[in-house]
Amino acid sequence: MEKYAQVEDGVDAARYPFWALVRDDLWTVKHEEELTLTSLGRRPTVESLNRVNPGGGLCEEDYELLRSHPDEAAEAAAGLILRYFYPLPESLLEDFGLHDLLAGRWADPLRPLLGETFKDRDAIWRSYGGQKMAGIGCLNDGILSVFSDDKGPYADGRIPDTNWIAYVGDGLSGDQTITDGNALMAMHQAEGRPLRYWHKPYGGQFSFETWAVITQRRRRWGIGEDKKWRREFLWVLAPVPSPDPDTWPSDVLDALEVDRDVLHDDTSDYRPGDVDPAERDTFESDKDAYRRLAARAEANAKRRGERKKPTQADRYVRDPSARAAVIRRSKGSCENPDCDGHPKERTTAGLPILQVDHVHDLGKGGPDIPRNMIALCPNCHALKTYGENRERLRRALKAVAERLHAQALC
Ligand SMILES: [Zn+2]
Repeated sequence: MEKYAQVEDGVDAARYPFWALVRDDLWTVKHEEELTLTSLGRRPTVESLNRVNPGGGLCEEDYELLRSHPDEAAEAAAGLILRYFYPLPESLLEDFGLHDLLAGRWADPLRPLLGETFKDRDAIWRSYGGQKMAGIGCLNDGILSVFSDDKGPYADGRIPDTNWIAYVGDGLSGDQTITDGNALMAMHQAEGRPLRYWHKPYGGQFSFETWAVITQRRRRWGIGEDKKWRREFLWVLAPVPSPDPDTWPSDVLDALEVDRDVLHDDTSDYRPGDVDPAERDTFESDKDAYRRLAARAEANAKRRGERKKPTQADRYVRDPSARAAVIRRSKGSCENPDCDGHPKERTTAGLPILQVDHVHDLGKGGPDIPRNMIALCPNCHALKTYGENRERLRRALKAVAERLHAQALC
């Protein structure tokens, strides 16, 4: 306890849990009756502990249980390591006599196991406890889980061209704040701590899909459950094979190093009125708005380009001001001049169903700026992605995007 409690005051840091475990019936102390308690009777005096030097240990029944069930013992030890001794100090397994049981695989016995599937949140709660309702919360083992339901109020999902996940924060209506689930997420981001990501596809079941770490925190405009625009957090999660950092890919480790504790606030780069005509103020012309947004997007792209070591988030997390610029430029219609689809179709929220796409793909080095982007109806977007003439369409759309960009500026 003195070695691993990580507290300046070594005496109380060791003395307190030594005695708290007795109170909780997890621990027995030999010669307990010979100890002198402090005046409030809360714990033994240091003097009497030094004099009696009592031995302590697990209750015999628990000890036998753990000896005879090594798998359960390993699971319990792994949970304690992840919760209280993380990141794992080098000599801890050796010091605790757990080296043979857990070396190189300390995280494997943790339950739930990857891929475990449940009908709904209730079923998870019945098996593993924790808070039943929240999208972000701990199971009974104290380890953080985030839940993503494709049917739910948020469009969480993979960031295109990557396996990273964009996860909307906690709070249904009004500006989100760093409280409750978001406070837990901020703490996990600051400490580079892993969490469990649960996902329920539309019409499917909830499964523990992957371990993940938070590589970026952004703030953006979104529509709350009350249908009003609000500032919300977007947590970028990178899947990792296990909670053990030794197994994490290098691009994840790099991203953690660059972005730990940083908030990228996009809400001053654009306004709800840029993407929602109902929120638009009448003082700014479309041209001025496009100029403002395009300049912002280009400045952001330049800044990202100047990074020594751009992370996967720098390359693939899309700039909302670039998207907003293209939405304004499109005036709500598909920008493919040969569009035969449903160029003015709207969503249930009354917004145009437009997919803003990159003419030269981000994954192939295309820049995330309006000159390289185009707003397409779902039909044209599908033609550009899967159609047999997609290469020809792509070339045509590249010229269209450049022309529309130049027209919108002058
Ligand atoms: Zn179209």
